[in-house]
Amino acid sequence: MTRLEKVKICIQCRLWVPIYTDNDMAQTTEQVFSNIHHRHMTAIIPASELDRKVYNRFYYYNKPSERSEESGGFTRTPRVW
Ligand SMILES: [Zn+2]
Repeated sequence: MTRLEKVKICIQCRLWVPIYTDNDMAQTTEQVFSNIHHRHMTAIIPASELDRKVYNRFYYYNKPSERSEESGGFTRTPRVW
């Protein structure tokens, strides 16, 4: 059983991820979260202090079909000259 002790939050995006030390999938999710939000104001707080009414959980699914969308999830607008 893994006990959730700490979470990483992005104050700017109001998202959070769990920080587990013994769970590979959660570590990957945390790394992806850190990459996406590395320019944002993030913080690591105890899970008991997380306000779940304010913050939404960040999910990362490592599906091969989503590999092509690694540009950051932004939709590209066709450029009209
Ligand atoms: Zn963010």
